[in-house]
Amino acid sequence: MLVFLLSTGECDLRCSYCGGSFSPRVVPHRVEYSISDLRRFLDGCNDLTIAFYGGEPLLNSRFIMEVMNTIHADRYVIQTNGLNVRRLPPECWRMFSAVLLSIDGVREVTDAYRGRGVYDAVLRSARWLREVGFSGDLIARMTVSEMSDVHRDVMHLLTLNVFDHVHWQLDVVWSDRWADFDGWAMRSYLPGIRRLVAWWLREMHAGRVPGIVPFLGVVKAALSEGQESPPCGAGRTSIAVSPDGRVLACPIAVMEEWAHLGDIRNSHVQGHIDAISIGEPCTSCDAFRFCGGRCLYAYKERLWGEEGFAKVCAITKTFIEEVLSALPEIEGLLNEGRISREEVLYPPFNNSTEIIP
Ligand code: SF4
Ligand code: SF4
Repeated sequence: MLVFLLSTGECDLRCSYCGGSFSPRVVPHRVEYSISDLRRFLDGCNDLTIAFYGGEPLLNSRFIMEVMNTIHADRYVIQTNGLNVRRLPPECWRMFSAVLLSIDGVREVTDAYRGRGVYDAVLRSARWLREVGFSGDLIARMTVSEMSDVHRDVMHLLTLNVFDHVHWQLDVVWSDRWADFDGWAMRSYLPGIRRLVAWWLREMHAGRVPGIVPFLGVVKAALSEGQESPPCGAGRTSIAVSPDGRVLACPIAVMEEWAHLGDIRNSHVQGHIDAISIGEPCTSCDAFRFCGGRCLYAYKERLWGEEGFAKVCAITKTFIEEVLSALPEIEGLLNEGRISREEVLYPPFNNSTEIIP
């Protein structure tokens, strides 16, 4: 089970696709339940991954330390904007299995989306984490939007030799700022995916497996029993706890009725497994085995309407086809022992990368 703990609704950035802090009336800026409430809620949970989330989770680093010092989890994960890593001591960082740092690609793009100086600050933080002994999976978590060139930006982050993996999400949940989504998808995104797949495959022929999470996640689904639905596990094998103690199906669905599953003070984590599932049109879709219905929030809310949902599906299907076109060669390389299953079958556990962009 993956349990997101929102340590605060506050954030010290105001990224263009997000808008910054939640109102404290919606997501309080301090945790309002007790550690003993949390311990009872999680008691006996097998295979537990705790992922700290916000707002910006490190703005309430005291809560993170308290949880890590008192509640056993099989793994700890954090998604952070990377500006406040020194708020946790090195011994805490060494306990994390995965750290996801938000960075969107080259400096101009990251700073345009997130604010001036953010790119340099995140890279300083990434290097500091390694210096203090963090040895887990360091993941660059990108948001891909209109200024992004997915080929340039993913290649840039991978070739910095700082991150183990790069993951991206398309800015298509809330954003209404796109001037020309269709044109961007046709002229930039999908050609960029094709070039990335070609490079990725060439690298694998040379015995290296570049850590491109969406590609690896689709290949893993193809080589196993298929994609979990939704791939992030929201409402099935993943839940979130708001600072006020509400249990949510998805960490960003803080106001939506469908996502409100209960309260940690009077429920148990196991009682929320398989609470919500994705249905039609996904379950009859020919891409479902690899796509898993993509994002539960987008599926439920459809903020771009049916037409917008279909547009995102169209590029998702093309993305999946491009990755699957590499599958026969990847299987050959695996059989020859040129690349290892361990590297290809990623992620090894639900580390909060949502797989399908
Ligand atoms: S491509 Fe669209 S319809 Fe098909 S499974 Fe994914 S989200 Fe659902
Ligand atoms: S992918 Fe969608 S449903 Fe899953 S955690 Fe992210 S926003 Fe929520």
